[in-house]
Amino acid sequence: MSVQRVLSVSSVRLAVSCAAVLMNITPPAEGRQGTGVGSFRDLTGVFATPNLNCVIPVSYSRDMPLETLSPSRASDFKQCPQLFKFRSIDRIPEPVTIYQARGTTAHLALQDLYDFSPEQRTPEALFDLFRKAWTDLRATDEYADLFATDEEERSWGIESLELLANYFAIENPVEVAPLEREMDMLEDLGGITIRGILDRIDELPDGDLVITDYKTGKAPPERFALSAFFALKIYALLIRHKTGRSPVEVRLLYLNGPTLYRLPISEGHLNGMEQQLRALWAAIDRAIDTGSFPPRPGPLCDWCSFQDRCPAFAVEADQPLASSA
Ligand code: SF4
Repeated sequence: MSVQRVLSVSSVRLAVSCAAVLMNITPPAEGRQGTGVGSFRDLTGVFATPNLNCVIPVSYSRDMPLETLSPSRASDFKQCPQLFKFRSIDRIPEPVTIYQARGTTAHLALQDLYDFSPEQRTPEALFDLFRKAWTDLRATDEYADLFATDEEERSWGIESLELLANYFAIENPVEVAPLEREMDMLEDLGGITIRGILDRIDELPDGDLVITDYKTGKAPPERFALSAFFALKIYALLIRHKTGRSPVEVRLLYLNGPTLYRLPISEGHLNGMEQQLRALWAAIDRAIDTGSFPPRPGPLCDWCSFQDRCPAFAVEADQPLASSA
């Protein structure tokens, strides 16, 4: 199975300026109000009800066997069983970061863009949807204190809009016809129950189904991209189970880059994924049973919010310091 990198633009700035020329984006202007990348101060007013349906409840604990599993939590266990334990068993809250806030807000904006008719799906419309979604989110307790100053928030907002402008360098929303967006899925795959929210599924003119996942983080290098498709392959499996139709391709759309990775999917891949998922489910069940969730340190530890309580790092901290002669 090989991943195809379809598009990669090395500079976000380049993508913004190209999109600005091609799509007639209003150029950044300090203090402007209204549309355009440079304006990010429209944070008041009456807006639509926020869609905060992004948190998937988990239903397992030390005393209960595994009942449902989401693709994200399955990825956690695969990456590091200890991380899975912190998140899913101990349920230790993680601080919201500006990157998560950007991801959540961008997802809401991209989802809502497809409420519009094709000709209305412009960069300005997407930027306005982002502002609106953020205005709703920042009114919630979770996000209220994310920024110390208005200036920090404004810089974050402008960077976010620059990132969103990249979307138009990856695909033309006029030509996209989503079948479903933010699809809440709960499927029993013969004894294992998987739950997750799928960003988007499209039906191409020839009837083929394609799944797309939006990413606001940095795209991995091509040689490491295959593992990033783990969750999407699970979603493809859920779609096959739910509809009887197998998606032919899964796509990771990285706004930061921008980069589009495409992975063709076959029945064989989906069968293999189902076996892998069953094995993972059994491993999680055993771990819950025995209470054994070994840490698996790796490059992603740098971004793990549990490092200060992780046994892998506690061992290092307990080592006697080398004396300086
Ligand atoms: S710091 Fe690393 S080893 Fe520890 S829980 Fe996080 S990902 Fe796992």
